[in-house]
Amino acid sequence: MQKHYALLLGVGSPWEVKAVSMQLEAKRVEIELGWQWGSAACCPECQRACSIHDTAAERTWRHLDTMQFETRIRAQVPRADCPEHGVRTMRVPWAAPGGRFTLLFEAFAIEVLLASATISQACGLLGIGWGTAQAIMERAVERGLDRRELDAVRRLGMDEKSFRRGQSYITLLTDLDEGRVLDAEAERTQEAATGVWLTLTPEQKEQVEAVAVDLWEPFVQTIRQEAPQADIVHDRYHVSAYLNEAVDQVRRQEHKELLAAGDETLTGTRQLWLYNPQNFRPEQATEFERLKDLNLKVARAWAAKELFSKFWEYGSAAAARRFFKDWYGWVSRSQLKPLVAVAQMLKRRLANLLTYLKHHITNAVTEGLNSKIQSLKSAARGFRSFENYRIRILFFCGKLALYPQ
Ligand SMILES: [Zn+2]
Repeated sequence: MQKHYALLLGVGSPWEVKAVSMQLEAKRVEIELGWQWGSAACCPECQRACSIHDTAAERTWRHLDTMQFETRIRAQVPRADCPEHGVRTMRVPWAAPGGRFTLLFEAFAIEVLLASATISQACGLLGIGWGTAQAIMERAVERGLDRRELDAVRRLGMDEKSFRRGQSYITLLTDLDEGRVLDAEAERTQEAATGVWLTLTPEQKEQVEAVAVDLWEPFVQTIRQEAPQADIVHDRYHVSAYLNEAVDQVRRQEHKELLAAGDETLTGTRQLWLYNPQNFRPEQATEFERLKDLNLKVARAWAAKELFSKFWEYGSAAAARRFFKDWYGWVSRSQLKPLVAVAQMLKRRLANLLTYLKHHITNAVTEGLNSKIQSLKSAARGFRSFENYRIRILFFCGKLALYPQ
């Protein structure tokens, strides 16, 4: 049996399995490992063969279950007496320094965490607590970040996501080509924006060709600072959101005016002006056709918004620029104030809208990650800190090499 477990654990000389004890009542297997005395110890810092000073206090590690028996390893690990580094506890081949689990158990736990619908489900399957799962994910992310290759990063996305209820945000930097989160910072501030860029070296930043971003000025400033050569590409979905908001403001104002005159034409129509008409139910389509022909301000605002979507389809910047000039002129003459305000903002940012036609990037890739990130948030009740959340984001959305070797 000793030999069998030695094989299972992959430990060899000078480590040996000294005893295996089975506790039937407790459903537990304990494997005692021992160091063959006389073998030189190895300094964990410099790998030099040293004499043995003494042994550290006995420790246990959780291993993969044996036939549903919780399996633990016990060992007294020798301390090397290194002439350079002093007395140091040796590294063991079955576990990471400081880890309370064997590498095999950690690898298995990572697999279960990745495959489970929720972290608590994984905890249940593994028979571990939340804190332990968090520690396993932390070590996995640390390994993954050490091994991560970032020299080929070309197109990035900067984005914010809501974190917790209310007005709490996080800032994300994503690799759009690989669809992976590179880093996350708490808050949505200039400081957070600069913070996520620290994940790249100066050389790697110089390789960045384009960054998709919303129209928020501190994000734009940060990109100019961190990667001045990169094209800034305003995210078209954020632009749509601004246009939608303007249409909604026009509707609210007009609805108020109509109501004051006893006219309820716009009552209950909010969604109609915001939805994509292609998704209308038949009765919504009929209702919308009728409203569109009523010479309403909101109908003109809606038409301007719809028309703008053509902008993204142009093949050349020159043609798109001409289109924008016409569209801008039309909106300016419309006297629809909320829309004019958005048009003016888009005019100021036109150069960073035209870059879309060259790179065709949006933060929609981040949106794909979004559902995963959101589910991590919803599982995040009782989170002690943003840092735990960041570890989970990188664990599940960082596409990192997580497994111990
Ligand atoms: Zn040493």
